[in-house]
Amino acid sequence: MHTKKVITDLYKKSFYEVRKLGLVTGKQLGVAQIQDSRVIQLLMKNRLWIALFICLVIIASLAIDPIKSELTYYEYSYKGKVLGVVKSQGAVLDEVEHIEKLVAEKTGVDVKIDADADIELTPVFGPSVEIDAAKTVDDVTAVEEKIEELASQALELYEIKLNGEVLGQFESEAICDDIIKQAEERILGTPLTGYLEVGTEEVITKEIVVANVLDIDDAEPVISKLVDGGIKIEEYTVVPGDTLYDIAIAHGITEEELLSYNQELNPETLQLGSIVKLQGIKPLLTIKTTENKTFIEKTPYETTYEDTEDLYVGEEKVVIEGIEGDVEINADITTLNGAEIARVEHLRNVIAEPVTAVVKKGTREKGVLKPGYLIQPINGGFSSPFGSRWGRMHKGVDFTASVGTPVYAADSGVVVSCEQDGSGYGNIIVVDHGGGIETAYAHLSAFTVSPGTRVMRGDQIASSGNTGRSTGPHLHFEVRINGTAVNPMQYL
Ligand SMILES: [Zn+2]
Repeated sequence: MHTKKVITDLYKKSFYEVRKLGLVTGKQLGVAQIQDSRVIQLLMKNRLWIALFICLVIIASLAIDPIKSELTYYEYSYKGKVLGVVKSQGAVLDEVEHIEKLVAEKTGVDVKIDADADIELTPVFGPSVEIDAAKTVDDVTAVEEKIEELASQALELYEIKLNGEVLGQFESEAICDDIIKQAEERILGTPLTGYLEVGTEEVITKEIVVANVLDIDDAEPVISKLVDGGIKIEEYTVVPGDTLYDIAIAHGITEEELLSYNQELNPETLQLGSIVKLQGIKPLLTIKTTENKTFIEKTPYETTYEDTEDLYVGEEKVVIEGIEGDVEINADITTLNGAEIARVEHLRNVIAEPVTAVVKKGTREKGVLKPGYLIQPINGGFSSPFGSRWGRMHKGVDFTASVGTPVYAADSGVVVSCEQDGSGYGNIIVVDHGGGIETAYAHLSAFTVSPGTRVMRGDQIASSGNTGRSTGPHLHFEVRINGTAVNPMQYL
């Protein structure tokens, strides 16, 4: 609010001053007009010179393009050898076929000149190119003669052989080494730096051979061949309904193999039109590297099994989760095409020991009831036995416990029902233990499971209460074999 006021005041003030300034400026305009007219007089006096200058600028700008083009030449090279200077690119490029024919006639060599790969034309402009007697501008005939001459010259080349098989010929040993290095880096997927040793399992030789410039090979095809083995990898395009498994089976390979050929592929997001490689790339080079590395390695944890009567045969329960250990390792790691084959450890520092997993393994036969197989389902006082009572049958046993006391499954099983019973049980849970054996828990205040819940012996299933026909808070517990209530005390 305050700021706004200050700004408004400033605006008012400046508006007033601008008006005042307007008057001052109006007065001063006269002086400016006088000055302007002096400039014009000066201009008028020298108008001839000015006109001349403008004309020169226009002429110069019009002439620059032709002059520039007049001064542009092209230095041409063939197979990396600079041969001379030509006036137009066409002097070389338009004559490729003619030169091929001419060279073939004169040297007897069937030449194929690849204009893109073999010929290089570099524009050179104006004063930077000194076309002297030694470097005259070549006409078509001169170009032909120079290439032909170069082609017929004997040249020492370096021939790369892999296990005795010729891969290509190149101008220098350095180029050969660079080709091998580039192939190695592509195979490993990393720059060849930081290694203690890098070598190949294959024997690579570089021998000097006498040849000519036409025998110089292009590096890229040789590098590619070293990397992918020189074979065309078969591919498959994903169509609707495909799974990696189906694709693998249809092509006589396993899903694991297919995945190993397509490590960048995520089976979860396999898309229509995805390209799947059906073969693995087998490089011609097997690169052996040794590298000193410090890294954390996971150590596996062990698992101990403990027999338990709480579970049925075939059931297991993890009691303690296993945790992998961490070990800091410094080692010289030797790999073949990236896969470790050997290591020499210099340091092994255990950061965290693995934690052994403990798994309980069930020994109980399902559907068998023996003394001691059931646990007392509640912490409470035994209050009423099984059997005839007040002239009628008491189908279970009672334990007194205040309302809300946890009720546990007497044995492992599956909850059959959680119901409000109208005939006197009140809230009742029935658990099936297999083999026709069931347990029932009545007069409950609440259920903590629902029908279908898989429960273990000792799991809480409810809270005790005083529902149904009950003379005070207690748990009524029954054991039924094929629907007939038996005395639970035989099995507790
Ligand atoms: Zn009872």
